[in-house]
Amino acid sequence: MKIPFIDIHTHHPVNSEEIISVHSLFLQDVDLQNDINTPFSAAIHPWHATKFAPEQVSEMLNNLIKQPEFIAIGETGLDKLCNADYQHQKNLFELQLEFAVFYRKPVIIHAVRSWNELTWYLKQAKVPIILHGYSAGKELTKQLIDLGCYFSLGKSVLQITPSHREAIQIIPLNTLFLETDDSSANIMEIYFEVSKITGLQLDELKIQIHKNFKSLFF
Ligand SMILES: [Zn+2]
Repeated sequence: MKIPFIDIHTHHPVNSEEIISVHSLFLQDVDLQNDINTPFSAAIHPWHATKFAPEQVSEMLNNLIKQPEFIAIGETGLDKLCNADYQHQKNLFELQLEFAVFYRKPVIIHAVRSWNELTWYLKQAKVPIILHGYSAGKELTKQLIDLGCYFSLGKSVLQITPSHREAIQIIPLNTLFLETDDSSANIMEIYFEVSKITGLQLDELKIQIHKNFKSLFF
């Protein structure tokens, strides 16, 4: 069997024999009229938090739960740099985390300048947490490894800084994912760079991430 590349978080999915993309959808944009036949995640993004009341979010999530390709809640999280009211972001984040715990779905997290608050939630979370677009340094990475998080690396590896490189090198390989997010980068380029950073052969990296994907989602 040929091992595919896995793009764990993308807004521009390409699904082929070679690539499995997990399409990241804004919950409010999901079209319930049509079955979605490729894997996707959905959630209210922190940027859009103030547009929705908690009851609306619950209703949208409940409507979606029967879709078999709905494999993760995300991206959700906390973002201190956006305009949405922070307390409201927290409320919706909490609600979506509870939903994930109830339905046992992994959560894909968007975090900007919110690590203190997030770590508090991550300590209590009883579902796998994937930190998407991860680019923090070694100290924070150590703490997040201890909390059992998964790390998804994206375009920041294409212009790697020494501190990001150091952080990547301590991430356990069984907690690693790769992504393109909304960039125009190709997932193969990301794999190629990460294989150089980790010292793994490209094929070894593909096997490892495919294994991580299978064990987390299926
Ligand atoms: Zn995204």
